Amino acid sequence: MNKPHERRKYIFVTGGVLSGVGKGITAASIGAVLKARGLNVSVQKCEAYLNVDAGTLNPAEHGECFVTKDGTEIDLDLGHYERFLDIELTKDSATLAGRVYRDLIQAERDGKFLGKTVQMIPHFTDAIQNEIEQSGSGSDVHIIELGGTVGDYESVAYMEAFREFAARIGRDNCIFVHVLYVPYLLTSKELKTKPAQNAMRDLRSFGIMPDIIGARSDYPLSDGALSKISMFGGVAKEAVVPLPNAKSIYQVPLTLEKQKVAQLLLKKLGLPVRKPNMKIWDDISDKATKSYDKKIRVGIVAKYLDNEDTYYSVLESLKIAAWHEAVDLEFSWVDAEKIQKNLSSLNTYDAILVPGGFGTRGVEGKIAAAGWALDNNKPYLGLCLGLQVAVIAAARAGGVKNATSAEIDDKSKSQAIYLMPSQAGKQATGGTMRLGNYEATLAKGSKVAKLYGTSEIIERHRHRYEVNRAYEDDITKGGLVISGESPDGRLVEFVEAKNHPFFIATQAHPEFKSRPHRPHPLFTGLIKAAKASK
Ligand code: GLN
Repeated sequence: MNKPHERRKYIFVTGGVLSGVGKGITAASIGAVLKARGLNVSVQKCEAYLNVDAGTLNPAEHGECFVTKDGTEIDLDLGHYERFLDIELTKDSATLAGRVYRDLIQAERDGKFLGKTVQMIPHFTDAIQNEIEQSGSGSDVHIIELGGTVGDYESVAYMEAFREFAARIGRDNCIFVHVLYVPYLLTSKELKTKPAQNAMRDLRSFGIMPDIIGARSDYPLSDGALSKISMFGGVAKEAVVPLPNAKSIYQVPLTLEKQKVAQLLLKKLGLPVRKPNMKIWDDISDKATKSYDKKIRVGIVAKYLDNEDTYYSVLESLKIAAWHEAVDLEFSWVDAEKIQKNLSSLNTYDAILVPGGFGTRGVEGKIAAAGWALDNNKPYLGLCLGLQVAVIAAARAGGVKNATSAEIDDKSKSQAIYLMPSQAGKQATGGTMRLGNYEATLAKGSKVAKLYGTSEIIERHRHRYEVNRAYEDDITKGGLVISGESPDGRLVEFVEAKNHPFFIATQAHPEFKSRPHRPHPLFTGLIKAAKASK
């Protein structure tokens, strides 16, 4: 019997020179041009750092923590894959070195190695190869992206695993794409290929010759630079793919298409070269790069203000909804720690959004901003913490002057947002989190039910605290009604204001389910309300 990997093809995507130059977008776009040819594509992100999951990483440093439907907490590249491939991923797409080490050490403690020495090779490398096969199962082409850059101290064993994997299943069933950054030197006004040359040498030192080089640059690559990269990389010139900055990331699949990357990949992999259906990408790229007459200003009340990656999926969801409503989006960061003193400055925005968050810093500012939006008929969308602060603002307005959340004050007697009795005592990091898909039933006739166009929905979650229903009357008196609950009626999933142009908040993270060609109804609702208010 054929083993699945004897039919499946594998594309390894690694990076050199710098990380954070768009390797994830490139990998996702490669998937998109293959999917446009009817191939079934699966993806996997390998991380070399020692964390067991991405849930504990500081978003200011590492960017958004993306959550899959099965509750896996992983870095934002999985979000690119979901948006570009319109799929929903699971834990099988997330291979973190910390988790693999933990499992190996646990197996050693359990005596599973029968006295053998447990080593990086073969134990870690075998574990990685098994995960690659498992993650790719069922697809025609499996894309594996390695985080960081080749040569990083921690990723050495991954490179060895990839090399062994390719040797085992046949080099003609595998492609290595190396994404490099080509810097531009302002003083001499030239693109420098030396770092790229060194990065290609790093890759070769692991016994891997690249098949395709993606050359990221801030300025167009000259023919001379392309030739140099081709020569030093040992790849044909047509396999050096210039990837200049794009106006929108959603143009990258079209860039790859123009440069015939799919044909190159398919030929190398011995797969039939079919014509693609790129209509969806023509349409998305057109919408994403157009200028519209009307501009909507959205103020995002947040505490991490210097790294847009922190709220990546939220921003993508807003942008996507804006093009679909044919308006330009201008978003501004509103400093949650300062806004309380200057609430009327929120008037400069057409809509207010409070995204998810953890900890106490800036929370009072978020509560004040939500309360202000409620009082001043300003379109408001609250996501997760954005619901909790809205509920606290309403409870305060409804008469519970000290209303707060257990996260802010765990001794308070007025916890409108609390840790449910069933969660008590399990507060250790990660232990009590509600993660991944949960169903909700939306109230008949509610604004959310109208927006979703149905009353049974599923959204992803990532939070610990819940609305305390003992305060339901106060919250209602303060202006908010509960418009969505868990199917058993226990948990509050949505709240909304009745006499307000648009004030909706959800305990979930709908931003993870927006797609470039399918905006999420809550974001569309916010943008529409903002547009109508102009
Ligand atoms: N910190 C809040 C909680 O744990 C909200 C979490 C979030 O916004 N993702 O419940």
